[in-house]
Amino acid sequence: MTRKESLLRLRQVLIRRRDALRRTLHGELEHFNTMDDRVVGDVVDQALETDYGTINSQLAETESRELEQIEHALTRFRERRYGVCESCDRNIPLARLRALPYATTCIRCRKEAESVTQVNRVRDYWLRFDAAQPLKPASKQLLTT
Ligand SMILES: [Zn+2]
Repeated sequence: MTRKESLLRLRQVLIRRRDALRRTLHGELEHFNTMDDRVVGDVVDQALETDYGTINSQLAETESRELEQIEHALTRFRERRYGVCESCDRNIPLARLRALPYATTCIRCRKEAESVTQVNRVRDYWLRFDAAQPLKPASKQLLTT
């Protein structure tokens, strides 16, 4: 199978997943809409209903985020950019796409982005620390390297 064929196959996977997510999200919304009309018996029932609603809305949030990523990947496909890393413009390895069909960056760029976040987190920590008391020499080095 050529890379192009593999990408086309992944597109099918994305479309199927998108349709399934759309159906699920639609069903959850309908559930929410009918919930208000229902007469809830006692307090316990009400508490259970509320919990169910919370869990459901969290699920819906995760699902709609995934749906967003899938839509984005499909847009990339239409632009003939699917499978190309958004950061470095190199082809994303098929193994990565098979594991995560809506990946838009290669593992290297993804890891780099994560380590930048990490460095920022460390810097923010020390900057906050700095506001309270002067930096120690060791932590100053952390900022400059
Ligand atoms: Zn990359």
